[in-house]
Amino acid sequence: MLTGKNYIGLNLSGTGNTTFQSINPATGESLPTVFFEATQDEVDQACVLAERAFPIFQSTSIRERANFLVAIAEEIDVSLELEEMYCLESGLDTTRFRVERLRTTNQLRSFSAHIQKGYWLEASIDTSQSNNGIQQDLRRCMEGVGPVVVFGASNFPLAYSTAGGDTASAFAAGCPVIVKSHPMHPGTGELVVQAIIRAAKRTNMPEGVFSNLNSLSFTTGQKLVQHPSVKAVGFTGSYSGGKALFDLSTRRDEPIPFFAEMGSLNPVFLSQKSQTLRSEELSKKLAISITNDAGQFCTKPGLIFIEACMNSEEFINSLGEHIIAMANTTMLGAGILNNFQRTSSDLVKLGAEAFVRESTGKGQGTNTLLVVNGNDFLSNPQMHEEVFGPFSIVILCSEIGMIHKCVRSLKGQLTGTIHCEKEEIEKYKSLFELVRQKSGRMIYNGVPTGVRVYGSMTHGGPFPASTDPRFTAVGVDAMRRFLRPVSFQNFPDILLPDCLKDKNILWVPRRINGEMNNYLDVQKNGE
Ligand code: NAP
Repeated sequence: MLTGKNYIGLNLSGTGNTTFQSINPATGESLPTVFFEATQDEVDQACVLAERAFPIFQSTSIRERANFLVAIAEEIDVSLELEEMYCLESGLDTTRFRVERLRTTNQLRSFSAHIQKGYWLEASIDTSQSNNGIQQDLRRCMEGVGPVVVFGASNFPLAYSTAGGDTASAFAAGCPVIVKSHPMHPGTGELVVQAIIRAAKRTNMPEGVFSNLNSLSFTTGQKLVQHPSVKAVGFTGSYSGGKALFDLSTRRDEPIPFFAEMGSLNPVFLSQKSQTLRSEELSKKLAISITNDAGQFCTKPGLIFIEACMNSEEFINSLGEHIIAMANTTMLGAGILNNFQRTSSDLVKLGAEAFVRESTGKGQGTNTLLVVNGNDFLSNPQMHEEVFGPFSIVILCSEIGMIHKCVRSLKGQLTGTIHCEKEEIEKYKSLFELVRQKSGRMIYNGVPTGVRVYGSMTHGGPFPASTDPRFTAVGVDAMRRFLRPVSFQNFPDILLPDCLKDKNILWVPRRINGEMNNYLDVQKNGE
């Protein structure tokens, strides 16, 4: 049952005067639960509680944390009201719900398995003699940074939200989490909060390991990012939100790591032969990737660069017809819809040609494909910004040099996709290199949507795709964002973390005196 309250550890609190309701984007009607925006006092309470919980949570064993992660997945799996609330608040359908729930629970389970393998500890032991003959014992491992604030995005009410990748990463690293609930899906959020709280109780996690605060305005998020008890932030959302909060985090007396995953245009490049040989297959795949779930994916292909050839016109028409044939679907909310319709129609006014499927249903976005040339693209900065919705721009370039020029003008991207036949690879080698410099993930002959949750996934990229291109937000290595290295010099064995003790009781991989020495005990000189 929903309460609309803030969850401050195990306490429910709704002391503020500002309330709000979520809205069903398909009907425009308000849903019944009244949510209470968190007050300054509630923000303070959640942050201080998280700070107190940190050392206790950090000292739980890896096995205990692993059990907590699995318990969250189990509790989400059995939450009966979740499907209905998810669909009501987001306009997304039940098929998408099931896919996203599975992704979310698989993510939690994969972090659980990963932390038990111990690679993430990066345990390192140096027991060699220094130059002046003195025996030195230096050991290092990773540990959590402290309480983490998580901001989820509207388009993934589960997988990038309350118990999404950022929360799972932080828990895996031993960091308490405070979620700034998304005002477009607070009910879905609360049901997931209840699952997390049940899991925390079942597995004896400390009070304050998790809190969830509601907000209608930006102020709750701003207060959280500036709170001295908070030591890192994971953000998924728009460039404007991510950059504003990132700037706040750097202006603190104690600046903290801030990891924002933001929007991207995900350029796709089509060689002459790929248009000719795979026209129908490629145009259909791209149209689905552009319009699926109203194009509300950070990896939606927003730019399609085409090297002109005698088949380009046919290819573009085929793509345009597929875009028109795809049903328009409900967008996540009125704000996102209005923003989309305004930005896409402004761009259509600049384009030479457009394929448009006018929307008829309430809350639906208009599927749109715009066609321009390379010079149009270079001279219009608006075309270099993400349009969040079922919209893409084809840029027809007379020669490969123009494509190179366009790529050089691009900002950082989550993905870059190149379609070419094997015999063309040599011709496009320098394009591969240029695109690689701009992208977190390179795709060959595929589409950028469909982010797999694997250890080898990079979901991030040079700014503004993310605020720190050294990390991924998806896959088990996402937890590296919330870890820091700590060294121990000449420490007695009894005081060392388990992974660094002489006897490798956790059986974790360790680097000993420069060599990976996976499961062996340390042989100290003279022992
Ligand atoms: P959003 O409007 O930026 O909202 C994300 C969160 O940030 C919300 O909780 C929002 O709170 C808060 N926020 C936004 N601006 C803020 C500000 N100036 N100050 C304080 N808080 C602020 O994004 P969205 O509409 O939910 O999600 C869509 C965007 O996310 C798209 O751009 C999409 O590409 C991107 N996205 C990226 C990824 C990725 O992994 N790279 C994944 C999914 C989505 P309020 O709602 O209260 O404003």
